[in-house]
Amino acid sequence: MTRELTIALAKGRILDETLPLLARAGIEATDDLATSRKLVFATNHKNIKLVLIRSADVATYVQYGAADLGIAGKDVLLEHGGEGLYERLDLKIAPCRLMTAGFAERSLPRTRLKVATKYPRITRQFFLDQGRQVELIKLYGSMELAPVVGLADIIVDLVDTGSTLKANGLTPLDHIMDISSRLIINRASLKMKNQPIRELVDKIEAAVE
Ligand code: AMP
Repeated sequence: MTRELTIALAKGRILDETLPLLARAGIEATDDLATSRKLVFATNHKNIKLVLIRSADVATYVQYGAADLGIAGKDVLLEHGGEGLYERLDLKIAPCRLMTAGFAERSLPRTRLKVATKYPRITRQFFLDQGRQVELIKLYGSMELAPVVGLADIIVDLVDTGSTLKANGLTPLDHIMDISSRLIINRASLKMKNQPIRELVDKIEAAVE
């Protein structure tokens, strides 16, 4: 039985906070993840390797066991659905809010609202809970542009400082939920590699505290 562990990390904003957290847990890559073009990284532990992928793919890698553990935002985890995964720790990094946003001065249509988002699953559920029918427009980025060019009435996106919304003349409207990054574990790995995973989780948990 292999005791090797693969941790999937999300590229982008989360990575800046993930690397110091892992370093506090005693795990450091042998290359600089932020500048290297590599996707697989050895660490100072010979049984731990890191893979660097898009945040929306982290849950998929862990679901299928291509990575034993992963670090990803609650937003992408909810959107994925969590099948085959165990969400073990709130790492309290990359905190932000999932919000609706639009033009403050513009009244919204009473009938079918057009909502552009990268998060159709969460968005559908949010409006369903409010008993509102919406037309969802799936986008992969630059959501802020959609209301500006008339593609949608509002957007659902992550908001941190609010400066991206402001720069595009938009205002945050409804707060859907608070988001932070989570440590996830493949369910089968947790059984098969229980001891090394527990040791690793304990170290990461101590680093969060
Ligand atoms: P801000 O201008 O600081 O409110 O950041 C908003 C932009 O950054 C939007 O494009 C968001 O999708 C993205 N963003 C904000 N917080 C996060 C996060 N924690 N993880 C990933 N993307 C984020």
